[in-house]
Amino acid sequence: NNRTKIKSILDAGETGREVTVMGWVRTFRNNQFIALNDGSTNNNLQVVVPLGLADDDTLKRITTGASVKVTGEVVPSIGKGQSVEVKANSIEILGDSDAEKYPLQPKKHSLEFLREIAHLRFRTNTFGAVFRVRHSLAFAVHQFFNERGFVYLHTPIITASDAEGAGEMFKVTTLPLNSAPTLEDGSIDFKEDFFGKSTNLTVSGQLEGELGAMAFSDIYTFGPTFRAENSNTTRHLAEFWMIEPEMAFYDLEDNMNLAEEFIKYLINYVLQNNADDLAFLDQRLAEEEKSKPQAERNEMGLLEKLRFVVDNNFERITYTEAIDILLQSPAYKKKKFKYEVKWGIDMQSEHERYLVEKHFKKPVIVINYPEGIKAFYMRQNEDSKTVAAMDILAPGIGEIVGGSQREERLDKLISRMEKMHVPVAEMSWYLDTRRFGSVPHAGFGLGFERMVQFVTGMTNIRDVIPFARTPQNCEF
Ligand code: ATP
Ligand code: MG
Ligand code: MG
Ligand code: MG
Repeated sequence: NNRTKIKSILDAGETGREVTVMGWVRTFRNNQFIALNDGSTNNNLQVVVPLGLADDDTLKRITTGASVKVTGEVVPSIGKGQSVEVKANSIEILGDSDAEKYPLQPKKHSLEFLREIAHLRFRTNTFGAVFRVRHSLAFAVHQFFNERGFVYLHTPIITASDAEGAGEMFKVTTLPLNSAPTLEDGSIDFKEDFFGKSTNLTVSGQLEGELGAMAFSDIYTFGPTFRAENSNTTRHLAEFWMIEPEMAFYDLEDNMNLAEEFIKYLINYVLQNNADDLAFLDQRLAEEEKSKPQAERNEMGLLEKLRFVVDNNFERITYTEAIDILLQSPAYKKKKFKYEVKWGIDMQSEHERYLVEKHFKKPVIVINYPEGIKAFYMRQNEDSKTVAAMDILAPGIGEIVGGSQREERLDKLISRMEKMHVPVAEMSWYLDTRRFGSVPHAGFGLGFERMVQFVTGMTNIRDVIPFARTPQNCEF
């Protein structure tokens, strides 16, 4: 297979050489010009089919969606939009496509429609760009941590622990349903369904990650995470990917510094490596903005926003300050918030977005949350009301990172677990890290899809994961 990728032909702009390209036809004009795409870039390669090269039957089969193989010479292009094109010497149809039935017509489709044909949407410019950016971000995640000596630790997907205590777990069943142990009412007894044990799909790899940090100093995990979110928001999925670094000898401030550096690194990486795709997404968003009423439009374009974020420090405030800002905001006074605002609430997306988009106009790190709304493992502050938590809030989304300094003091940890009804005896393995050589440590979780949303400007989380899993969507 001596195929050349379209991106490399267009990037090199070198003429005079012979290439073989394969891809899918986007359009075929005047029985002569094919716009060919192979997924390496959104920029189609123009293939010119000289008169007389192909017979009528072949020409008829060059339809939108069909796959073709072309061998030809790279020549300068006189047409607009590209510097080179390929003049075909031979053309072969690899797979036919009935243009009448092909769901992707050469026009702009709505994101809602494309969600219904999610199995084909990779072939559109928007999703081509989004998923190449997603790929680059994933690659940059590993590069960032590898450069800093972190060990990539694979935490389990099937686990007996519930890190968050939020009751959003999917239970695991191993037995054929008709022979699974059942309760009196006939429902499955999940309590002992994993070979006699109760297990669930992981909601976070953190607790296992802490065990790694207590040996390797710095680890990260990056894998799928599952939450039975029975809500229909633009930032929640039932299956999402999370990046969770965990660092020994770190306090809350070290943790914030690493998280901010990490986010900026990821953005810089795509600015440098996905310029074409970001330019396309920037344009796409600009058009979408035009259709909104003036008051709802974003002040910055996508690229402008990304450059601003890497060039400026994130705002850092305490939870108490955040609540004060909300209580004094015009939005609060005009009763614009749907959810209640008072000290002690778990901030909703509308509150988080107000802080970022209207008040500070930049990403915000909020620290020291009330202990009652945060998980058991977070470190108690001196005030005994708050814990050393940190959330990072981003424009357009709200929370993208949740993290904390962990409670390293055994007695304090146990008393908090008891207070929050976390089974202390069952978590003896976890407590061993505090019994034997406990050290201050911290970590955070970055929701990967929320990061992809942030970087691509896509508003719905369903549009930044190849196969979205939501209560309404699990067809394949
Ligand atoms: P939210 O308040 O949005 O429900 P959370 O506080 O429950 O998020 P954490 O337990 O702090 O989430 O998880 C760490 C990160 O994982 C979040 O900051 C977010 O980026 C991401 N995340 C959490 N739940 C989801 C989900 N259902 N779908 C996609 N990403 C998620
Ligand atoms: Mg949640
Ligand atoms: Mg939250
Ligand atoms: Mg959180």
